[in-house]
Amino acid sequence: MTLIFKFWIDLLAILLLALGIKGLSKVRSAREANRLAATAMAISVVGVLIGSFGSLVESPEAWVWIILGSALGGFLGAITAQRVAMTAMPETVALFNGCGGMSSLLVALAVRFFPATDSSFGFVETISIVISVFVGSITFTGSIVAMAKLKGWLSTPAWMQNKIRHVINIALSAISLVAIAGLLGGSNSELWLLIVSSSLLGIGVTLPIGGADMPVVISLLNSYSGVAAAAAGFVVGSQLLIVAGAMVGAAGLILTKVMCNGMNRSLLSVLFGGAIGSTPSGGNDSGEYVNITSCSVEECALTLEAAERVVIVPGYGLAVAQAQHTLREVTRALEGNGIDVIYAIHPVAGRMPGHMNVLLAEADVPYEQLKEMDVVNPEFPATDVVLVLGANDVVNPQAKNNPSSPLFGMPVLDVQEARTVFVIKRGMSAGYSGIKNDLFDLANTSMLFGDAKKVLGDLLLELKELGISAKA
Ligand code: NDP
Repeated sequence: MTLIFKFWIDLLAILLLALGIKGLSKVRSAREANRLAATAMAISVVGVLIGSFGSLVESPEAWVWIILGSALGGFLGAITAQRVAMTAMPETVALFNGCGGMSSLLVALAVRFFPATDSSFGFVETISIVISVFVGSITFTGSIVAMAKLKGWLSTPAWMQNKIRHVINIALSAISLVAIAGLLGGSNSELWLLIVSSSLLGIGVTLPIGGADMPVVISLLNSYSGVAAAAAGFVVGSQLLIVAGAMVGAAGLILTKVMCNGMNRSLLSVLFGGAIGSTPSGGNDSGEYVNITSCSVEECALTLEAAERVVIVPGYGLAVAQAQHTLREVTRALEGNGIDVIYAIHPVAGRMPGHMNVLLAEADVPYEQLKEMDVVNPEFPATDVVLVLGANDVVNPQAKNNPSSPLFGMPVLDVQEARTVFVIKRGMSAGYSGIKNDLFDLANTSMLFGDAKKVLGDLLLELKELGISAKA
């Protein structure tokens, strides 16, 4: 009876998880999808408790650990989710991935060292334990290094920037393979060797990777955590964990590919290309600007007053300035005056996938106004005004026009095709790539210098003076 009940509970959790992951691919359904996935996790925990009810009755002290672990984990998860700043989301995801890797590692070790009395290890169990330990250790240490690098707590040591790192990583891989061969041969003693070598390998492959590539690596580590969880599922005989781990592994891999495409990077170049420092391709901002035109908020407001169609391009600076709510007030005012407003979303604008979608959703921007790059690019020639808000790399024409540019080949928003472009940023600093932006030199571009929130606040006042305000 318990087994049948658990089967249905697992099936329900798997279905909800699949629907959750599917829903996360669309902005409109993302919140609901998150709830579905969280419900799936809660149902899974209930399923595990029901499945283990017999043994739990025999050892009531286990309840203390279960309740303590759930309360502590739930408390830490809730506090982290509530407090984390949107700009710190990549390192938070890295930390969660690391926890996933560590969990799989601990599950495998627990089964290996405290096996159920009637169990013996066949080939499938042994290989599952080996994969859980190997991938779990790499995921744990790699994710912690990724988090520390993004937080600025850790930088790449000079000796890690030359080819010696490849030699070290190959040596660690070889030691891991020897340990794996020993474990598959039935020995137990190589387990600790595998934990140490694969943990060091996780550090060795992540430490040399530059900050710009780190979110891609985090996405890949997310995929690894899914693989480790699926292997742990085989270890404990949980179909739910196998399916959920496989889904996370596949989704993480697809996201990694999407991010590599958006940043014009190949996965191999991210992992082995020696992307060192904070720029993805060794870019610099030494290029000279020769034709910068700056303008005032008044001029911008007057141009907007005459516009029929406006495209907003949000970027990382908008998130830094936390200007999304002020932006929404400005766009409400424009819409109240009959101006057509849409938002152009570049797949890697900001610092994490979906960063701009989340930011604009916070300010209740209607989903249907968010347009993806491929949809909006053909529409720029028919656009009167583009407001580039704290975006830089994602609107750099070098990506299309300059074959010698490190950005060349990256898909970008063709904002220069619009009649007038206003770029709102604090100064002439380069974007994440560290590269000069040719857009700023173009005749139809005007720079509006200042913090995005302050400039948008001033723009709102100017628009009000022109009689342009939101309609009730
Ligand atoms: P960029 O990082 O290229 O540029 C951001 C700009 O915002 C800067 O030039 C800065 O200029 C400006 N800025 C910063 N603070 C403020 C502020 N308070 N007010 C106004 N402006 C401000 O951002 P994009 O979004 O255009 O591009 C994202 C970059 O990040 C791409 O290179 C992408 O490849 C990379 N990346 C994206 C990831 C993702 O998943 N989304 C992951 C990893 C990397 P100034 O200082 O002069 O104000």
